[in-house]
Amino acid sequence: MTTSAEQAYNELIATHREIAILGSCESLLGWDERTYMPRGGAEGRSRQVALLSGLVHERFTDKKIGELLSVVEESDLVRDTESDAAANVREIRREYDKQVKLPKELVEEMARITSLAQGVWAEAREKSDFSLFEPKLKEVIDLKKRQAEAYGYDTEPYDALIDDYEPYATVTTISEVFAKLRAELVPLVRAIVESGKRPNMSIIENDFPVNLQEEFGKEAAAAIGFDFNIGRLDVTTHPFCTTIGPGDVRITTRFNPKHLGQALFGIMHEAGHGIYEQGLLDENYGTPLGEALSLGIHESQSRMWENLVGRSKPFWENFYPKAQSKFPSLKGVAFDDFFFAINNVEPSFIRVEADEVTYNLHILLRFEIERDLFREKIKPEDLPSAWNEKFKEFFGITPKNDAEGCLQDIHWSAGLFGYFATYALGNLYASQFFAKAENAIPDLKDNFRRGNFSALKKWLNENIHVYGKKYTAEKLCERVTGKPLSHEPMMDYLKAKFGELYGI
Ligand code: ZN
Repeated sequence: MTTSAEQAYNELIATHREIAILGSCESLLGWDERTYMPRGGAEGRSRQVALLSGLVHERFTDKKIGELLSVVEESDLVRDTESDAAANVREIRREYDKQVKLPKELVEEMARITSLAQGVWAEAREKSDFSLFEPKLKEVIDLKKRQAEAYGYDTEPYDALIDDYEPYATVTTISEVFAKLRAELVPLVRAIVESGKRPNMSIIENDFPVNLQEEFGKEAAAAIGFDFNIGRLDVTTHPFCTTIGPGDVRITTRFNPKHLGQALFGIMHEAGHGIYEQGLLDENYGTPLGEALSLGIHESQSRMWENLVGRSKPFWENFYPKAQSKFPSLKGVAFDDFFFAINNVEPSFIRVEADEVTYNLHILLRFEIERDLFREKIKPEDLPSAWNEKFKEFFGITPKNDAEGCLQDIHWSAGLFGYFATYALGNLYASQFFAKAENAIPDLKDNFRRGNFSALKKWLNENIHVYGKKYTAEKLCERVTGKPLSHEPMMDYLKAKFGELYGI
């Protein structure tokens, strides 16, 4: 390797790290805005955030970065495509090209239209009137099509949009896995409904004092490995996880005093995201190797701790006695009745309230609709009817109105097309990784029964977290599990667990 290439690489990394530090200031402002900022601070805050994000964009799209990338790309430094340097360069190039390809005018227009569209969407949802939202939705879709053209794509425009959230994934590969999943999931949901069995939901929809829920949630998060020395938990309307920098990963939740599960599983979910962020290597901070791989892989970590661990029998064999001594309303409730209640499956209209099984159908429906919108098989004005027809087909029920149908999510008004798929990809990756972990750690479930989750956390740290963006999601999945992503591990898991619960 030549010295100049090495110098260029070092300069590239140093610049990238500085940009990451600037970005982390923006993250801290964002966290504060959603947790403790008084309402009056909104205007000043938006100025701070606009200035910082402008600086980040300006520095990242500086021609100098392109020049440094070119020097390194032509050198021996990246000849071994498996090397850390090659991965960093590949990912910085990817980000850089995307940002410079977007005309400034398009970025500004997108920010302006989506900000207006979100206001209109909120009103349309409130009135349950899609026709109010339709003109703005068309504008957003047109801008997203322009964005896809600016990025460029191999097969279809929707590929370019998915790539923003799940790098290197394509409509074709996702469609294949989702179609197989759908073919098995729809009959499973039907069989569950037809079993006629229902848990007694009043067990978890009862009085659960918020202070006790907070203690219990923190205990669960700490037990599974969220480190409170380098993290914290606060309260927000919409739970999230954010990383301020090495040693500072923050999660949030919301409490419902009449429901045990919402905050508890929400905390375990966000703790799962947090454990991933805490598992990234400090020495890679500010480089792609120190960043989470994709939204799908991120979601695989949160869903694993929330569902595969948090809603499992071994977990509760350890935690249920603790829950009973903490919450008086659980005294005298049999373990099996409690376990059934936290694993209730029921077709319902609202995605964010859906259970572990039907949740994926909500995503498959949105993915198919988005795909067909960008293939121009569905026109924006046909969205409500397309939604309701698919809903009936998937769930066997039809929304009464658009508020509980196609207007329920904020994503499309915000221009987040391609985002939904990552939720189901996360569930699929979670099951596939977990099945592998069970093989690799023979006494995994006995560990859970003893309240010990460190073997699983360590396995995730070593096999997934430490690599950051070194591999693509597809490659990581192959490396970790020996196979490409498949619907089978999740279906095996769901059929076994819910087959037993529902006697089907
Ligand atoms: Zn999540």
